[in-house]
Amino acid sequence: MIRIKGRFSDAMALRKGQTLKVATETGNQVADIWAFNPDDMSEYMSMEHTRSINSLLHVATGCRLVSTRRRTMLRMTVDSAAMHHDTLLCPCSPELYEEFGEVNHRSCTANLHEALAKRGLSCPCTPASFNLFMNVPVATDGSLTRLPPPCKPGDHVCLEADMNLIVVISACPQDITPINGKDCIPSDLLVEILDTPEAKESTA
Ligand SMILES: [Zn+2]
Repeated sequence: MIRIKGRFSDAMALRKGQTLKVATETGNQVADIWAFNPDDMSEYMSMEHTRSINSLLHVATGCRLVSTRRRTMLRMTVDSAAMHHDTLLCPCSPELYEEFGEVNHRSCTANLHEALAKRGLSCPCTPASFNLFMNVPVATDGSLTRLPPPCKPGDHVCLEADMNLIVVISACPQDITPINGKDCIPSDLLVEILDTPEAKESTA
C-alpha cells in the first residue's frame, strides 16, 4: 500500500496486466493522474484522445484511457463510486494559485514534475491530467460546475494496464474551491499495485 499524502504526489511503474487501485481515504480527495510510456516519454495519456475514443466527456467503468498515439494505456474496470470522472479541467498550477493571491502554493502541475524528477525522468510539457474522483458536471448549455466528490470514505477505482507505464498520481492540493470536499482540506490517497487476478478478488 502506498499512501500519498494530501497535497503531494508519487510516481510508480506499472507493468502490462497489473491493476492500479486508487482509493480516497476520506471520500473527499481528487487524484490527478498521468501515464507515460517508460520507453518514450513523448507518448503519454491524452484526455483529447480518450474523449474521442470513448465518445464521452468523462470516464466511467469500461472506458479506455489512451495515449497520444491512440494506444490503450489503462482500462477502468472497477469504480465503487459509479461516478463521472473529469477529463475536462486542467491540473492546478502555481499560476492558478497566484490568481487567488497565493504564492508558493503546492500544485498538481509542480507535483507531476517533482514526482518524475525523483525517478530521474522528465516531461517538457504538462499534459492534461485525468482527474479521478473530480466531480465536474456539464450542463446542457456547456457550462461546468466544480462540486465535491460524490464519494464515501474508501471509494476506489481499478485501472488495468494494457502496456508498461510510469504513472504519476497527485493528491490535488486545491483548498480554495470545494473540489476536494466542502471543507476544502486535501486528504490522503491510498494506492495499490495488484496483479489482475488479485485485484478481481479484492474488489469482488
Ligand atoms: Zn490540483
